[in-house]
Amino acid sequence: MNSSQFREASHAAIEEIIQYYDTLASRPVLSTVSPGYLRPLLPNGPPQTGESWPAIQSDIERVIMPGLTHWQSPNFMAFFPASSTFPSMLGEMYSAAFTAPAFNWLCSPAVTELETVVLDWLAGLFALPECFLSKGEGGGVIQGSASEAVVTVMVAARERIVQRRCGHLEEGEEKEQKMGEERIKLVALGGEHSHSSVQKAANIAGVRFRSVPAPKSSGFRVTAQSLRQKIEECKSKGIEPFFMGLTLGTTNTCAVDEFEEIVAVAKDYPDVWIHVDAAYAGAALALPEYQHLAAPFAAFDSFNTNMHKWLLTNFDASVLWVKQRRSLTDALSITPSYLRNEFSDSGLVTDYRDWQIPLGRRFRALKIWFVLRTYGVDGIQAHLRNTIKLGELFHSLVVSRPDLFTVVAGPAFALTVLTVNPEKRGAAKGARVTPASSPDPNHEAYLNDFTSDAESQYLANANTVTKEVYERINSGGEFFLTSTTMEGIFTIRVVSANPMAEEKYLRRVFEVLVETAEGVLTERE
Ligand code: PLP
Repeated sequence: MNSSQFREASHAAIEEIIQYYDTLASRPVLSTVSPGYLRPLLPNGPPQTGESWPAIQSDIERVIMPGLTHWQSPNFMAFFPASSTFPSMLGEMYSAAFTAPAFNWLCSPAVTELETVVLDWLAGLFALPECFLSKGEGGGVIQGSASEAVVTVMVAARERIVQRRCGHLEEGEEKEQKMGEERIKLVALGGEHSHSSVQKAANIAGVRFRSVPAPKSSGFRVTAQSLRQKIEECKSKGIEPFFMGLTLGTTNTCAVDEFEEIVAVAKDYPDVWIHVDAAYAGAALALPEYQHLAAPFAAFDSFNTNMHKWLLTNFDASVLWVKQRRSLTDALSITPSYLRNEFSDSGLVTDYRDWQIPLGRRFRALKIWFVLRTYGVDGIQAHLRNTIKLGELFHSLVVSRPDLFTVVAGPAFALTVLTVNPEKRGAAKGARVTPASSPDPNHEAYLNDFTSDAESQYLANANTVTKEVYERINSGGEFFLTSTTMEGIFTIRVVSANPMAEEKYLRRVFEVLVETAEGVLTERE
């Protein structure tokens, strides 16, 4: 493809992308293809001679479109959003054009320097404590995903504690042996509702994993007491906690762990690296009304959030900050002669290869820079406030029908988690007395332990009905919702943080929930 063919092809592609966005709301959000749908649509191998762009482009509609789940659709209220916006797509385009696996500063100084500046801007936007800024001993780096961010800091934490135990020993086999013995004792901790990536990181880092309870009685939050208890329990068994993954906005319910109280635990156990995973809800720190949540981070070691969830930047861009950048470089820097250069040797530049798992890296700062400049702080805050308000609206609709629904969690960060009552107006059966002040008169029912026969029967029926409603809505094709189960309670999650979210879609999904729930309950009568 030469330049003039590229001009023509890219114009046609952009036109098609714009058309796609303009018609997103009217497309069924979920793909209906069956597994294996694609192979029969394609030849057995690549073409012997090259094809024209129009021939290739026509297969987007024929081959690809039927198999897409439309994450950008305003009817996508599942998981957490994976936002994409036009300025961020432009960033991707330039990044592809300038492709350079810019692992060292020298490989493309702009890639490194823009990343450092943009991460400092973001640290300011999120009101992160000063210790995370690059002007001190900390700094930020863009990782591909929250999962990568967590495994990266876990390895840094592992090496930090091993060095603290063995750093004084003379190099040699004896030291190596002692380091191995220390590593074998290590255990990483994560909250009961921390994302599975914390446990996965422990598997990758070759350490044990233990879960810190976060029961519904604590609002699914890790408390200082439960963390302290778990650390002590591990120590009493001769295993050494060295990492704790806290969460700001758990995947199940958007719960926020007890950060302020955990500061004292961090001080009592300085060998435990405390990381805050705020993959989704961290975006809310751009709003002054949420910034108090970040103040305790000064006592913790690292923090990450995904620009590619709620922050208008397309996948992939997970921003990670550490308080001591040396912890990363001490663990991850290995410099064979072919990577040496005078700038790296001078110590005056950042080589982000030492802050991550891969060597090469993409120019991701560009798309974040474009998004920040296009929307400005005002635009980003307006998007966050609008989607939070839509979540509150949806929640108010749900609690307006206590005969049909019970809110188990939320509204929190544009997420509401609900169940369908097993029979109309039967919500409080077998449950505790409901306080009149509760916004949802049925909510207290779910604080029960469901231990009596009546309670467990109630829960079993509620689960059956909720699951049926959930499955019918998703198979209807108009909306895509996801579910989760906590302490045996099957729930439906509705998230309104999509960049295209609007009141009419939230009102409509509520209407569909009501119609479906009424249909299912009537059939059971
Ligand atoms: N952490 C939390 C709280 C999440 O909700 C998710 C995904 O939804 C992740 C981590 C994983 O994110 P990633 O796909 O960027 O690894």
